[in-house]
Amino acid sequence: MKRSVLKFRLIVTVIILCVLGCALERYIAKPYLNKHVVAKSLNYSRLFNDLNPAHLRAAKEFGLKEPLQSREDAEAVKNKLVKIKSNDYYTIDRLTHSIPYLTEGAAELLETIGRNFRDSLQSKGLNPNKIIVTSVLRTQEDVKRLQKSGNVNASSNSAHNYATTIDITYSRFDKIETRLLRRYESVNTELLKSVLGEVLMELQKEGKCYVKYEKKQHCFHITSRM
Ligand SMILES: [Zn+2]
Repeated sequence: MKRSVLKFRLIVTVIILCVLGCALERYIAKPYLNKHVVAKSLNYSRLFNDLNPAHLRAAKEFGLKEPLQSREDAEAVKNKLVKIKSNDYYTIDRLTHSIPYLTEGAAELLETIGRNFRDSLQSKGLNPNKIIVTSVLRTQEDVKRLQKSGNVNASSNSAHNYATTIDITYSRFDKIETRLLRRYESVNTELLKSVLGEVLMELQKEGKCYVKYEKKQHCFHITSRM
């Protein structure tokens, strides 16, 4: 083959490799985030003000017949409940004062909240994040330990005792870091909180849950009505 043809092929190959390399570099380096979406200013305390009697009423209607005394008691009813595990839609925090069991309806509600949150982020052009569950089913022993640790909302008369209720924190989210080599930029927490707020507002309006905004605990306290 002529030298000039070989030289031409070499130049073309180098150009193609350069173009591909630049495209890949741009793809990986460009964080995927819609900068035009800003957090809605929501009055969380006013919007999510379902009081404890409403939570308790729903908990007693859809949840366990009676609060559990101890972790041993919990063993006996575990087969009637759903064990929740971190998945694509939510992350279960390290639970210290509760156990990851819910009624079927509450487990379904949790999955719906997580899925709607991810879908909503995607439709707004925001990077994927998962909600974090910080408290689930409490036994009376857990409640006593929580009270000792200074949690003012820990009550022996709480919907958390009936496996219908979850706490989802609004101050932390589980960020998905990358997809197909592409780095995701962080979405600010206030914006994620407002997207979660909109998701909860919708479900609350549909009569699927009661929601209380817990400022001290930095969470939405949510009781399933399903
Ligand atoms: Zn709670």
